[in-house]
Amino acid sequence: MPSLHHTHRQRSSPLTTWLVLGCGLLSACAPPGPPPPLRGATMGTVYTVKVTALPATLSQAELQALVERELQRVNAAMSTYDPQSEISRFNQHRGDDWFPVGRDLAEIVLRARDVGARTAGAFDITVGPLVEAWGFGATGPRDSPPSGAELAAARTVIGMDRLSQRVDPPALRKSVAALQIDLSAIAKGYAVDRVAAALDAAGIHNYLVEIGGELRIRGRRHDGAMWRVGIEQPAPDGRRVQRALPMHRDGAVATSGDYRNFFETNGQRYAHIIDPRTGMPAKHQLASVTVIADNCETADAWATALSVLGTRDGYRLAENEGLAALFMEREGETFAERPTQAFDAWLSAADQSPQETENND
Ligand code: AMP
Ligand code: MG
Repeated sequence: MPSLHHTHRQRSSPLTTWLVLGCGLLSACAPPGPPPPLRGATMGTVYTVKVTALPATLSQAELQALVERELQRVNAAMSTYDPQSEISRFNQHRGDDWFPVGRDLAEIVLRARDVGARTAGAFDITVGPLVEAWGFGATGPRDSPPSGAELAAARTVIGMDRLSQRVDPPALRKSVAALQIDLSAIAKGYAVDRVAAALDAAGIHNYLVEIGGELRIRGRRHDGAMWRVGIEQPAPDGRRVQRALPMHRDGAVATSGDYRNFFETNGQRYAHIIDPRTGMPAKHQLASVTVIADNCETADAWATALSVLGTRDGYRLAENEGLAALFMEREGETFAERPTQAFDAWLSAADQSPQETENND
């Protein structure tokens, strides 16, 4: 699973050194630091929430409870690993009648359909049977590719034209009994947005929320500096940071790629991102795609969608859609970066941010 590290710019000035020496006891005069980050397990990965300060009305334990409550709510609707979740019950349902669900689920299907349409079917949340056939689903890994017959069978039960959604009252409907929804490409981003909204509602205005590498920030760090997000080198071994992304304004970042979740057999690499148009794992030079967007659901969906499309088609579409995206391609042992215009504009805006200039000491 792709993931991002948060990097903290190292700053050391003579003034800092003097203050430390002059105080003797650091704790006696250091400004209070932020509360420790909250961490926990969710969605088969880990989450991190950093806030710069707790509101007077909320303890650290209450904040954690608030975050966990939001995550449980999303999982109860969207987790394919929980057989009792709304989505699992819909997946198990065999009828072609309207199946009532919560509004959240109906709406996320609507937005996934939109990204699906914009990518001419490359992004497809009904891809689950193919994900299973390739061994990247709930039934677990396999060490050889599926047979042609298995793939052909899976392809008869996928496609957004076999799924309908209704928002009022919210419900889903399938036209083939075996249709399955897999929201893995978008649910982490959605959950990040829900947690962010809960923090907003609690009066917290400076935070970083991350689930398995998909993240959203608001405001500034406790020292007033921009949040910085490390984009990893898309290599399966090690976790080196390729580039630090300065978050000069509020937004979300998601990364998708084939560099961590894959299997190799007979010298072939098969990754967990499947091209529903061919039934095969997406296969190209592209190692990862990072997308910046206003919300994490959008960033998450597009990062996966562009990974399916690859550099050539994905890059062109990202430019047409005005997306801020960074494509990283394998070039021997190194990685070549291909940013879209909007991604470059994001970096330039960060360079020109007054606060960033101040910190360039
Ligand atoms: P992400 O880590 O956000 O890129 O999502 C990857 C996950 O999305 C995979 O593990 C699959 O469960 C699912 N997936 C794979 N291929 C597609 C696709 N073409 N469209 C939508 N979801 C996909
Ligand atoms: Mg995604």
